[in-house]
Parts: sequence; C-alpha cells; structure tokens
Amino acid sequence: SAAVNRIAAGEVVERPASAVKELVENAIDAGARRIGIDVSGGGKILIRVTDDGCGIAPSDLPLALSRHATSKIDGSDLLNIHTFGFRGEALPSLGAVGRLTITSRVPGEAAAEITVAGGETSAVKPAALNSGTVITLRDLFYATPARLKFLRTDRAEAQAITDVVKRLAMAEPFIRFELRDVSGDPRTVFRAEAQTRDPMSALRARLSDVLGAEFAENSIAIDTEREGLHLTGYAALPTYSRGAAVAQFLFVNGRPVKDKLLTGALRAAYFDFLSRDRHPAAALFVDCDPQLVDVNVHPAKSEVRFRDPGLARGLIVSGLRHALADAGH
Ligand code: ADP
Ligand code: MG
Repeated sequence: SAAVNRIAAGEVVERPASAVKELVENAIDAGARRIGIDVSGGGKILIRVTDDGCGIAPSDLPLALSRHATSKIDGSDLLNIHTFGFRGEALPSLGAVGRLTITSRVPGEAAAEITVAGGETSAVKPAALNSGTVITLRDLFYATPARLKFLRTDRAEAQAITDVVKRLAMAEPFIRFELRDVSGDPRTVFRAEAQTRDPMSALRARLSDVLGAEFAENSIAIDTEREGLHLTGYAALPTYSRGAAVAQFLFVNGRPVKDKLLTGALRAAYFDFLSRDRHPAAALFVDCDPQLVDVNVHPAKSEVRFRDPGLARGLIVSGLRHALADAGH
C-alpha cells in the first residue's frame, strides 16, 4: 500500500540531503562526467539532478521505479560496495515521499519521461532531452506533514546538501560537479571542474576545490599498502592543523564513511606534533577487496566497518608517520 511504501521510504530518505546523495550516486553509477544539482527551499521544494550518463531506456523507466526490480547489487554481491546504491530502493522510495519525474534518453532512442506522485505512476511519455538523465523531485514529504515538520530550516537542510555533494565530489575528481540554489535567482553554491591529470594530482586539485587551496598547499601525499589495504590521500602538515573546524574524511572503496577509527588514527599519527585540541585535516581513501569490509545494510546509514579495524588503523597511523617523516617532521 502507499502508506506502507511511505514508511519504508522514510528509512531511505531521512531528509533532502539523503535524496541528493541517492540521486548523485545513481548519476555516478551511470558513468556521468558532468553532474548538476539544483535545489530550492533547502531541497524541500525542489531537487533536480542532471547528468550526462548512460540514460534509461523508455521501456526501463517503469522498472526503475519498482522496488528491488533493478538492483545493481544482488544478494551474492552484498559486500561489493564498488557500486553505490541500496538494492533498488532509492527511486521507489523517493517516488513515495515526493513528486518524482525521471526524464532520460539513451543513444539511438527518443527521450521519454515518467512521473510518480502519491503512489500513482504515470504512463511513459515522450519528452525533450538531448542525452543523459534529469531527475526532478518536488515537494518532498508533502504527504507526510509530520515528517516535514521534523526537518530543520531551509538553511540547515541546504548546508547538509552542500556537505553531501562536497563529500561525493572529493571521491570523484574526474567528474564535474555544480550545485546551485535556485530558490531565487540561480546561485552557484559549489562548483568543481573535472580533473584531467594523473589520479594523485587530480585528487589534490579536487581537495583544493572542496577544502580550500590552503589545505592542498599544506598537505602531504599518502600512498601506501599493507595486507590488501591500499591507502591514498592527503593529510595536513602539523603546521596547518587547526583547533576547530575538523575536516577529516575517510572513504572506503570510493564511498564516504563516518568512522571514529579515523579520528583516533589521526590523533595517534600526529601524537608527537599536536596537542589534543588541535585537529589534523585529512582526506584518506582506503581501497580493498570488498570481502575485507562489512557493509551495514541499513539503507540510510551506508556504514562500512573493517573486518580487521586494527589493520586499517595501523595502516593509517604508519602511513601518515612515514609521510610526515619524509616531509621532515
Ligand atoms: P540502485 O541504484 O540500487 O540500482 P535505484 O532505485 O537508486 O536503485 O535506481 C534504480 C535504477 O534506475 C538503477 O539501477 C538504474 O538502472 C536506474 N537509474 C537511476 N538513476 C539513473 C541515472 N541517473 N542514470 C541512469 N540510470 C539510472
Ligand atoms: Mg541507487
């Protein structure tokens, strides 16, 4: 029923930023090189994600909206987090909590669109679009006023969206991102051009766009490996580290994760240089066989835990200590 769908959907879509995360991850999965995100009213009135990815064929549009029908991750693949997405939940959930329109075009076919609102899915109709996909989500939570009331101010929700987009952009330096606020006259909130250089240079340039040139200029490159865990990224020189404004980011197999492990490992690595109130900024990427991590399958949280947290912590601490020593610290 529509009510049951709305309850299930609330698990996936906690707030506008979670909708943005799902839609941008889908665009990344679709091989997009350019992703545009327009929001209005903190994402409560409008979220529109435009990409130049592979598109969805007209006959597949209804499938994209049916629960579990189009999962990129099947049961056997649950540990494989190279592909984003929670098993075909996102689009059906978004269609249950807002008015959702998908407009898309695959090469060699005409563009088409489908709309779902209030649990009712329209027929597939012809549309105008050159290539890629545009997904428009309007009036998020309009049918669940209690949920809407639970959201924070437009400003706070917009900030959460910006954080999500920046975090995803850090992990994808070869994709162009542009986030605009279209509540009034369109205003670019964040933009990062696609990088073209080698991966470490591309990452440094992208981190400069996201965290600021000061971070990029005052950080050291990390690139090391231990027992199947590959660690890359950049960490601030002790001289750059700050008291407040903690900027510590960890990605596992390309997916942003929140884990206290990073805070502790950074503290240990910088122990000789920094007092407890100083926080080193870092953006670190661990890549490994998906079997070496546990994915919490709760849709909204996308948590990842290392099978062997000690190994991951040790890799980060020793990788950072060596890099700091090489840099003369
Ligand atoms: P999942 O990502 O887990 O497969 P979603 O509900 O997020 O589930 O998406 C359903 C399906 O719709 C995807 O598997 C994909 O085939 C298609 N899809 C969604 N967004 C896009 C997009 N931006 N470009 C191309 N295909 C898309
Ligand atoms: Mg998805």
